[in-house]
Amino acid sequence: MTSLDLRSFNFLAALQCAVMGAVLMGMQRNYPANIRGLRLWGLAPLLALASTFFYALVGSLPPTLVGLVGNGLLMASTVTLLAGTCRFLERPWHWWPWATLLVGCETALLLFFEVWPDYRPRMLVFGLGMATICAVHTRVLAHHGRGFASRLMLMAMAWQTLVLTARATSTYWLDTADSQRFDAGSILHTVYVATFSFTILMVLVGAQLMVSDRVRQEFEHLATHDELTRLPNRRAILNRVEQEHERFRRHGQAYALLLLDLDHFKRINDTHGHPAGDRTLLKTATTVQQGLRRVDQVGRYGGEEFLALLPATDLDAARTLAERVRALVASQAPEPDTPGCTVSIGLAVVQPGDRHWNEVLVRADTALYEAKAAGRNRVGVA
Ligand code: GH3
Ligand code: MG
Ligand code: MG
Repeated sequence: MTSLDLRSFNFLAALQCAVMGAVLMGMQRNYPANIRGLRLWGLAPLLALASTFFYALVGSLPPTLVGLVGNGLLMASTVTLLAGTCRFLERPWHWWPWATLLVGCETALLLFFEVWPDYRPRMLVFGLGMATICAVHTRVLAHHGRGFASRLMLMAMAWQTLVLTARATSTYWLDTADSQRFDAGSILHTVYVATFSFTILMVLVGAQLMVSDRVRQEFEHLATHDELTRLPNRRAILNRVEQEHERFRRHGQAYALLLLDLDHFKRINDTHGHPAGDRTLLKTATTVQQGLRRVDQVGRYGGEEFLALLPATDLDAARTLAERVRALVASQAPEPDTPGCTVSIGLAVVQPGDRHWNEVLVRADTALYEAKAAGRNRVGVA
């Protein structure tokens, strides 16, 4: 293991990571703009690659220059990875604390290169600076990340923090003032180099998995939710009704359906315009949800019709809830840009003979028709 050519290993690993980084940067263009952080995640391995180029110039350039630029680029790369994660997870991000840390570390490195030349405090400063960035990264993932990909990243970052701290502190106590990183031949240095490449690789793999997972979630949400009201769409709410009917068939647990239709909505559109009608629809959707319980689910059934599923609810409870929703919608004061409206509701409770949920829905529709015929702004029961 110690006979491994670390420089070549480091360079090849950095090159592979840089290719993955470039892929991530390219992905940003094809993905929705609200998925953020990909460019930063992609930039980080490119900075790491640039730093290995600099380290390769050891012997051709002054050691202070190689040390400062190489270490600076590596720290910048690690901070950029963290920035990518924070952006992706929509956490607040500021560059200034990290720029301060970087400048502080570089100043200290300069002193220990030129004023009091000593390899050990240089290693301590750089190692602990890097460990701080990785520890914060681990913490952000532990608090805000979710799912397998985020755990993968977290484990890589935690391991990196550990190795960096162990390497920095052990170097300080064990090495001599003029040791050289790559020539020291210690297992710990080999583990460090391997860990660094491995961590970036794991973080990039984790990043790609996190991004594809987010895209999947977004598509799933688009396929099951209505864009205007953000409520489950017709397909999604009917799916829930189907599941509830299945529960009724197995366990006999009754449920009720409310079919709600806004009254004279065409008039609102005609008088105030379609955008005002949209705002009324949105406001009514929110009001209906407020009037129901947490367990109830409401979806957009059609244009200005909503379907509410009330699980484990008998006729009396359903009637009370429906009346509450109706009164709440009617009590909403009109706003200058959002006209007020009323709603008619058709209520039906599942009956022992109902073989399909559609039978309940048809009764709710009939009840709605009756509520409209009886003058609107009321609850009809079938
Ligand atoms: P009623 O009391 O009998 O229900 O009268 P109504 O005018 O509400 O009649 P109906 O339910 O047939 O009218 C539905 C109207 O809702 C027609 C359509 O233009 C409007 N609508 C449907 N979807 C939307 C939407 O997304 N936004 C807006 N602004 N209007 C919509
Ligand atoms: Mg209507
Ligand atoms: Mg209608």
